[in-house]
Amino acid sequence: MITIKNEEQIALMRESCRLLGIVHKELKEFLRPGVSTLDVDSFGESLIRKLGGIPNFKNYNGFPAAICVSINDEVVHGIPKAERIIRDGDIVSLDCGLIYKGYHSDAARTHAVGDVSDNVKALIRDTEKSFWDGIKMAKAGNHLYDISNAIAESLLDGGYGIVRDLTGHGIGTHLHEDPSIPNFEMRRRGPKLKQGMTLAIEPMVTLGTDDVEWLDDNWTVVTADGSWASHYENTILITDGEPEVLTLEPV
Ligand code: MG
Ligand code: MG
Repeated sequence: MITIKNEEQIALMRESCRLLGIVHKELKEFLRPGVSTLDVDSFGESLIRKLGGIPNFKNYNGFPAAICVSINDEVVHGIPKAERIIRDGDIVSLDCGLIYKGYHSDAARTHAVGDVSDNVKALIRDTEKSFWDGIKMAKAGNHLYDISNAIAESLLDGGYGIVRDLTGHGIGTHLHEDPSIPNFEMRRRGPKLKQGMTLAIEPMVTLGTDDVEWLDDNWTVVTADGSWASHYENTILITDGEPEVLTLEPV
C-alpha cells in the first residue's frame, strides 16, 4: 500500500529531509584524501544526532553504520571501516538518512575526490541528470513507471549500465515503503501518482554492466565487471504540480 501523507505529516517529512540536506552539505565538505570511510561515518552520525535526528540506516537489518560509503566500483551499501582510506582520484557515494519525529528521509550523492577522468565526471553528472529528468514525470495523475521510463531514457545515449537489482521506494514512517521504483524501462505504467505520496528516487548507474554482486560482508554491492558506479537520490513529494524535492542541500 502506498501511503498518502496529510499536511501535518508532510511538514514532518519536510523537516526530516531539510536536516538531511544539511548533513549532505557538510559531508561533502568533510570528504578529502586521507580520511577513512569510518571517519566519514563518525562525522555524519554525530551531525545527524546534533541536528536532533536519529540515523535510520544504523542497525537497519543489521547494517553497522549511519552512512553508506561506497567507493569507485562499489555501487551502494559500503560499510565504513577505519582501514579504508579515501584517495585522490576516487569517487565516493554517500547514502544516508535520518528519522525526525518518526519520519524518515533518504538521499545519496556521489562526489569526485580530487581529479577524475572526463568519463567519470560525465557518469556522475548524467546520473544526477537522470534523476531530474525522471521527476519531470512525478506529478499527480501520472503513473509511477512514467518516472522509471524517463530515467532510463535520460541515460540511453550514454551507453551506461542501469542497476536493476536495486530500486527507489516509498518513504514515510518507514525507511522503505511501497512502491518499489525501478530506474529502468517498464512496459506497464504502474500505480497512479497521488498528491501526498513521498518517494525516494535513486538512479544507480555504471560505466559498464548493469550486473551487480554482493561482497561476502553481505552488504557491499559492487559492479560485476569492476566498472565505476554513481548514485543520486532525493526524497520527493508528489503534488498536483511540480514535485517538491525535499532533501536538497541548503544554498
Ligand atoms: Mg538512500
Ligand atoms: Mg533509498
